[in-house]
Amino acid sequence: MRWPMSLAVIDGAVIDRAVTPGGTIGILGGGQLGRMLSIAAARLGLKTHIYEPGLNPPAGDVAAAVTTDSYDNAEALARFADSVDVVTFEFENVPALAAATLLAHAPVRPNPRALEISQDRVAEKAFIEGLGITVAQWRAVGNLKELKAGLAEIGGVAILKTRRFGYDGKGQVRIKDVCRAESAWDEIAGAPSVLEGLVAFEREISVIGARGLSGEVVCYDPGENVHRDGILHTTTVPAAISSKVRTDAVLIAGKILNALDYVGVMGVELFLVPGGGLVVNEIAPRVHNSGHWTIEACVVDQFQQHIRAVAGWPLGDGSRHSDAVMTNLIGAEADDWLMLAASGGGLHLYGKAEARPGRKMGHVTRISPRPN
Ligand code: AMP
Repeated sequence: MRWPMSLAVIDGAVIDRAVTPGGTIGILGGGQLGRMLSIAAARLGLKTHIYEPGLNPPAGDVAAAVTTDSYDNAEALARFADSVDVVTFEFENVPALAAATLLAHAPVRPNPRALEISQDRVAEKAFIEGLGITVAQWRAVGNLKELKAGLAEIGGVAILKTRRFGYDGKGQVRIKDVCRAESAWDEIAGAPSVLEGLVAFEREISVIGARGLSGEVVCYDPGENVHRDGILHTTTVPAAISSKVRTDAVLIAGKILNALDYVGVMGVELFLVPGGGLVVNEIAPRVHNSGHWTIEACVVDQFQQHIRAVAGWPLGDGSRHSDAVMTNLIGAEADDWLMLAASGGGLHLYGKAEARPGRKMGHVTRISPRPN
């Protein structure tokens, strides 16, 4: 393993094990998040090496190296980890075994426990609840009988979500009536699941938080998220919430980051309920779509922040100089790139060849002066 080391003193604390400029960050996953992480790393004089099973990943266009192999190939994973200074990931569904293999060859940040917890909605809910943080009413469901019992206990409308591999509203069924239990169970193909009570939220917000190697935490202002067809449509910052709710949201994120001894950026999705209470929906142990606005509106964006954290560098300032609205470009929406390029917003295209419906092809961020 190549391991450029440095010792730095920041605010009196010695930060060791920092990856020095010229070093390489290994990233599992080669989608748009890996692409934007690679661009951020390049700004700091660092290289990235992408490990991705699929051919021609979006991150491959901007990374120094790409390994195309499966997450089950222990030899390939070991070779990859030996070639980099630290390993991180841009999506959470990396098999736990792969993370363990990597750990024998390089530091893995955030640690694989964060990955394990966020891969499984049951483990995630139990963990968050264990910290004294509110989550939706929930029951683990392994068969139709448990589903029916859960529906009776939770009452009202519920959402059945597969424990694993759900994203962008996939692997989810809303159940309005107990007599729909059987068809809902069929719809998720009898996969181990979690049944959640529907939260009557006023707003959806998210906190993008970062924790450094020495334990410092920096959070961006919460953004307000609007979904369309289960996929994030817009994030608006600032969210229309009180200072109290803003502080509560940031404290929740900080508590989760500390409890996991986390290093890197995490997205924490929350529901704001009438009366000002917050309910955690889920955590994402990676940079997050609802944090893309930070590229235009902050000096140090979420991607650079993640690179700084996993490389053992001091974190950057999380304050924003502008207000922002980020809009995702889904499927054919990115076909209007010429018009979007002329519109004055910050345009990002992910270099994906095929614009399938529901596929994230890019995003646009429009900023405006932050009122004093
Ligand atoms: P998820 O994949 O868990 O992030 O869910 C996708 C979206 O579905 C969320 O952003 C919410 O808009 C909605 N949703 C998920 N779970 C719940 C819930 N328990 N109550 C109300 N809405 C939910």
